[in-house]
Amino acid sequence: MPSMMSDKLSRDAVDFIDDGYLQDLADGAQPDAARIREIIAKSLQKEPLSVEETAALLAADDPELCEEIFEAARELKRRVYGNRIVLFAPLYVGSYCINDCLYCSFKRSNPDAMRRTLSDDDLRAQVRALEDRGHKRLILVYGEHPWYDADYIARTVRLVYETTSPPHGEIRRANVNAAPLDHEGYAKVKAAGIGTYQIFHETYHHATYDRVHPPRTRKRDYLWRLDGLSRAFESGCDDVGIGVLFGLYDWKFETLGLVSHALHLQGKYGVGPHTISFPRLQPAHGVDLEEFPHLLGDFDFKRLIAILRLSVPYTGLICTARERAELRREVMAFGVSQIDAGSRIELGGYTEAGDAQQMAKEQFSLGDIRPLDVVVRELLETGYIPSWCTSCYRLGRTGEHFMEFAIPGFIKRFCTPNALTTLLEYLRDYASPETRAAGEKAIAAELEKLEDSPQKRELIDRLNRIRTTDQRDLYF
Ligand code: SF4
Ligand code: SF4
Repeated sequence: MPSMMSDKLSRDAVDFIDDGYLQDLADGAQPDAARIREIIAKSLQKEPLSVEETAALLAADDPELCEEIFEAARELKRRVYGNRIVLFAPLYVGSYCINDCLYCSFKRSNPDAMRRTLSDDDLRAQVRALEDRGHKRLILVYGEHPWYDADYIARTVRLVYETTSPPHGEIRRANVNAAPLDHEGYAKVKAAGIGTYQIFHETYHHATYDRVHPPRTRKRDYLWRLDGLSRAFESGCDDVGIGVLFGLYDWKFETLGLVSHALHLQGKYGVGPHTISFPRLQPAHGVDLEEFPHLLGDFDFKRLIAILRLSVPYTGLICTARERAELRREVMAFGVSQIDAGSRIELGGYTEAGDAQQMAKEQFSLGDIRPLDVVVRELLETGYIPSWCTSCYRLGRTGEHFMEFAIPGFIKRFCTPNALTTLLEYLRDYASPETRAAGEKAIAAELEKLEDSPQKRELIDRLNRIRTTDQRDLYF
């Protein structure tokens, strides 16, 4: 169906999701093992996979082949991302919504949803509370409502950056998850200094999209949403995130939808999405899970993450605290590069006493509600290096300049040193004694692995400055 806003779409906007074609691919029989191994070998060369190649991996139901896919994803994750995990926290800014999405407790027909927009003072208080726990990267989340227009988003993003908690508390990157904007709107939020603009398409399957987004709601306009990040690119927001709410429709189809979207952006603008998110439908107040016959089990969830890792080797994969801690541990090994920690998703939840499982008030329920310090310590004890690095975005290394992992040696030159300096900042300024000890040990072990070079000496010097002075934010 054409968009109601067709005169405001991106240049040559097109609905590139062909349901029939993707469904045939999703239903395809398992190719022979040699073909699967050929595709795995291609992705281990860090080459992005086509939709058809992704479909072949999705069709591999044989347990032995699944294990080979998991192992390849682990290997690729090790080679491309190393052992760093980037940490962030969500901050819900407003829960008014004019949509009526069947799967969300913020839907307008849910009378029990807590409707609230944080006042400026409330927002500052939330930001300070997050800074006092050590966060540097946030994702600001807004319902879809005329109040939360581009001017409002831009204003609140500025407010977040302006809010500091001395001596060291500051937010260095504010990403946004909000409704699709028009070109002018994206230009406004870009000018406010946003990091990634995230729009989840929820489901790429047209009939399901119509079923879960009732008529006479703004979100019903499939093409307006699908085209949302193309408009972002054309307005200078070249750092974007896509996502699906798994459980609304066939997971194999949705995975192909994500890969199609990534390839579409890459083909049209020369840059793919920076991140992909894959939340699973969770119990929530006012949402009847019986209505959703495609809920995704843990094993297939792991398969989809491993296959995405292989299909889009340079795209960050985000696994949120919706998932249980044990499962997050497992999927970090084969693909995930960013997680949130210490998250609260009730409005005002970082300062106001509240039970994070009060489902009537939240958009969905969380599976991992451990504090940041506990998550950081566990990451360190299991061989990961938690990172709060924001340097590329702040040095303008985004979009087509954001070569990230494509440049040989990039990780060694930038990501690892920045992970270590931001980790040390956290350890000095916010960590418990146990976490600090685990972190110092991990930093020493990482330094040990680096060959002597002028850059290593510079890194050691910066680490010493962080240890002995108030200097912070010494990024490469
Ligand atoms: Fe509103 Fe988003 Fe929830 Fe839909 S998913 S009801 S748009 S907050
Ligand atoms: Fe990400 Fe750039 Fe930092 Fe590496 S250096 S972790 S690519 S922001």
